This record gives sequence, structure tokens and C-alpha cells, in this order.
Amino acid sequence: MLPIAVLGAGLAGLSAAQALTAAGRTVRLFDKGRAAGGRLATRRIEHAGRSHRFDHGAQYLRAERSGFAALLEAARTLPWPDAKRRVPSPGMSALGRHLAHGLDLQASRHAGALHRTEAGWMVAHWDAALVRPGKPLPETPPEMAGPFSAVLVTFPAEQARAILPRDFAAPLAPIEYAPCWTVMAAFPGKLDLPDTLRYHGPIGWAARDSAKPGRDRAQENWVIQAGPEFSREFLEAAPEEVIARLLAALPAPPPLFAVAHRWRYSLLEVALGQPCLWDASLGLGYASDGCLAGRAESAWESGQALAARVLGA
Ligand SMILES: Cc1cc2nc3c(=O)[nH]c(=O)nc-3n(C[C@H](O)[C@H](O)[C@H](O)COP(=O)(O)OP(=O)(O)OC[C@H]3O[C@@H](n4cnc5c(N)ncnc54)[C@H](O)[C@@H]3O)c2cc1C
Repeated sequence: MLPIAVLGAGLAGLSAAQALTAAGRTVRLFDKGRAAGGRLATRRIEHAGRSHRFDHGAQYLRAERSGFAALLEAARTLPWPDAKRRVPSPGMSALGRHLAHGLDLQASRHAGALHRTEAGWMVAHWDAALVRPGKPLPETPPEMAGPFSAVLVTFPAEQARAILPRDFAAPLAPIEYAPCWTVMAAFPGKLDLPDTLRYHGPIGWAARDSAKPGRDRAQENWVIQAGPEFSREFLEAAPEEVIARLLAALPAPPPLFAVAHRWRYSLLEVALGQPCLWDASLGLGYASDGCLAGRAESAWESGQALAARVLGA
């Protein structure tokens, strides 16, 4: 039996790859990031000889159903900021590492095109460092991987539509995400603020990241996420401007340093309305948090649903 290609090693892709591997199928995962996890991300920033870590994507995980709850238990996540919400330690990306363990993951590879041949699907992929967002694919020839019996794409919908055949991808058109500007800032001393804050101005959410379990509590590291309105209005603004505006909205002294990250696809606004897409005759599938709800649990469940459809085919 030919292997299956899973494109994207966020929670949806890792979930599908794990379920297929557990059922005895051979899977190859490709991700343009340097590690697995996608939007469950941790950024390490070196400053004055010290390493600061920030969960700059998803902030915490909540399980409403038993499958995801079992995963959070197996990955030894810990409660934060209350008993219902959990975080992996020492950073959010630890969950991606946990799930990727034992899987065949090609990291830093941008999957740019699919070719259907008589032998099966071929995936054209480039060194991710050569690919510029929104620009045409590099002229250097890609590496080809395959043949695969099936290709499962697990990127946010707009990125998925760039690689999937138009007819298969048509149902993904309504899926919409809000962008999110995120500022990671370290302060010289403890701020007189609670560990988590929800705002109505430019800031949507701010959290003392260093208060999470397993983090360096001697540091005062904050993750400040802009709300969707601000993020849309300043989508193309320079990071310096975003940092200045968000820090001005937080009652805090000047930071030791601040770095901004722009998520073009952050929290889901319009969902597909079904757990996944699967076309057995084409051998093509789609899973992501865009299918049902913009939460980590939904991404994981979408991957499980797609794997079940593939195995049932
Ligand atoms: C700022 C922010 C805050 C959030 N807060 C929370 C929260 O507190 N709780 C919660 O439950 N959820 C939260 N979420 C949502 C949660 O992170 C997502 O629902 C979940 O991580 C989505 O997983 P996914 O696998 O569908 O997509 P992703 O995690 O986006 O994974 C897609 C993967 O595909 C890869 N990829 C994309 N294009 C290509 C390509 N061409 N070739 C190869 N690889 C490619 C990407 O590198 C990525 O690793 C937040 C998200 C953001 C951005």
C-alpha cells in the first residue's frame, strides 16, 4: 500500500497522522515551519544573555470531550489559569513535539503543488526559506515526494486553496479567519496586573506568560494580543507601530524588549460546517480548525475525523 502524505503538522495534521499510523498506514508529514505544532507555538527570544520564551499563538487548551481530554492528560499538560484550562510545559509547542514523536516529519518544507500521476499523488516541495508569503513559488526546481495513495491538506483554508484542485477546494471558500497581531514583551519588574486580562480596546487579551506552570517565574514575560478590529486595521502596519500602540494601551513601564508577530489566520470567524472533507475517488482530504470551530480541540477532532474517513474508504 502506498504511503499517505499529510501536509501541515499543526494539531489537525498531527492528529490525522497519528491516527493513520496507529492503524498501520505509512504516513509522511510535511510542514513549512521548523517544528511541529503550527499555531500552538512558542517563540524563544535571547536578550542580554538570557532566554525568554513566549506562547505567542494559542494561549491555553480546553477539552470539552473525552478524546482531547485524554490527549491533554497523556501530554502532561497542567492547569492554567484555572482548573478548566490547561497548558503544556515548558511551552505550548511541547504538545506538537509530543504528538510528532515517532512520526516521519519533513520540517522547513513548503508544499507548493500536487501532481496526480498514474502511480499516485506527487507533492512538490521547496525549502521554506526560499518561499515568500504572497509571492509566486521559487523558480528553483522543487523536490518531488511520492507517489502517495492520498494527500491530506491541513492548512488554514486560504493557504489550502492555493495547493488543492479548484473543484475539491471550492467548499472551503466561505471559511474565514480574523488576523491577530501579537506582541511579546519582557519587563524589568513585576507589573501590577493580574495574570490574564481581557480588554475591549486595541488589546483583546494579555497574559503574564511567565506565570504559566514550568516557565521562568523570575522573568516578567507578557503576551499581548490585539483584538480582531485593531489587527485588521493595522494588518499591513510596521511591527514597531503595532508594538507602540499595544504597549500604550497596557499600564506598564517601558519593556526590556518587545517583538511583534502577525498571525494572518488566527481565530476562526466562519466555519466549513462539517468535520472534514474527503474524496475517496481522488484520494484527497482536508482537515483543520476551519472545519467546525477555531479551537485546538476542534483542529484535533477534525484530524481524527479525516483519518477515520480515510481508513473507512
Ligand atoms: C493568536 C492565537 C491565539 C489562539 N488562542 C487559542 C486558545 O487560547 N485556545 C485554543 O484552543 N485555540 C487557540 N487558537 C487557535 C488554535 O491555535 C488553532 O485552532 C489550532 O492550533 C489550529 O490547528 P490546525 O492544525 O488546524 O492549523 P495550524 O496550527 O495553523 O497548522 C497548519 C500547519 O500547516 C503548515 N503549513 C501551512 N502552509 C504550508 C505549506 N504550504 N507547506 C507546508 N506546511 C504548511 C503551518 O506551518 C502549520 O504548522 C489561537 C490561535 C492564534 C493564532
